Amino acid sequence: MRFNYNSAEIEEFRKFAESLDLTFTTFPGFAEPEKGTIVHPFDKKEVIVTPNNLRNRNFLNPCTLLFDSIPIDCKGNVYLCCDEGNYNIYKIGNFLEMDFSEIMLRRLFHPQCRICNKAERTKNEKYDDFRRPFKTDDISRITQWFENTLYNVDNGTFVSNVESFDYEDSFRIKRVITFTPEEFVGEHIGKRNIEGIKQAGESVYFTAVNTDPILILPELLLDVESFIIVSLDIAVSSATFIQLFYKTILDESYNEKNSIRLRLNSGRQHVYFNLEKIKAVGQLRIDPGAVKGMYCIHNIEIRRYDTRDPIL
Ligand code: SF4
Repeated sequence: MRFNYNSAEIEEFRKFAESLDLTFTTFPGFAEPEKGTIVHPFDKKEVIVTPNNLRNRNFLNPCTLLFDSIPIDCKGNVYLCCDEGNYNIYKIGNFLEMDFSEIMLRRLFHPQCRICNKAERTKNEKYDDFRRPFKTDDISRITQWFENTLYNVDNGTFVSNVESFDYEDSFRIKRVITFTPEEFVGEHIGKRNIEGIKQAGESVYFTAVNTDPILILPELLLDVESFIIVSLDIAVSSATFIQLFYKTILDESYNEKNSIRLRLNSGRQHVYFNLEKIKAVGQLRIDPGAVKGMYCIHNIEIRRYDTRDPIL
């Protein structure tokens, strides 16, 4: 944002951005922060959405400002949009700790957008220069963010990728592999960024030494009439995301697009990765969380769901 107080820094910052191969541009700011501390009414408070201030702007009718820019401060914190300041209440999380989908989902569901009137301002208002009409392409991008993760609007959590599926359907679902604690502790399952692996009864404990612990499962061979479900009974010390990466015939790399992320709450829980629409090949990779610290896996199971009609 271009203000009087920082306009002398623009050329220096442009050169810095170019040295990093980043595109750099500026937008006019309309407040005058050099004239005093701005105290925002929402700072350190919650955004309160009431029937009286609610506008028809939610994830089905998003603001175009979500699509064209991501405001990031010098510490890497991401904020809701460039129309709001860098206040705590608009802080989304840290850019380096989230993937693009998570950043966009968190912005999309920010309650401020539900009560904001800025997105409806008309063309003749002064900051129309960084607005653009809503494009149909925006819809496909939203669909992409939702592709592998559903958001539970009622309680604000990310939930299973196929919520309504009967994961315990004993007619169709067969257990293919249950990894024993000995297999987990040994070489059968590859591990990275993990140390202090200990077996206690049927459970395995380990410590993630950074925010990227990785488990690589052995290769699975399945017939074409089946798809697989990966079931985990896992305990974590703080809320995080668990992510399953898969390869396909067309894309044999682990990447964000070829992954499913599920929310983990602090404590023990059961999660299921449903690979119904995915023809996964090779080895699956599981990142059990994105926080350092202690993890406990009570069970990892690969289940096969048979799509053929059951024989009566
Ligand atoms: S609706 Fe308001 S708060 Fe939300 S992104 Fe648009 S301008 Fe920002």
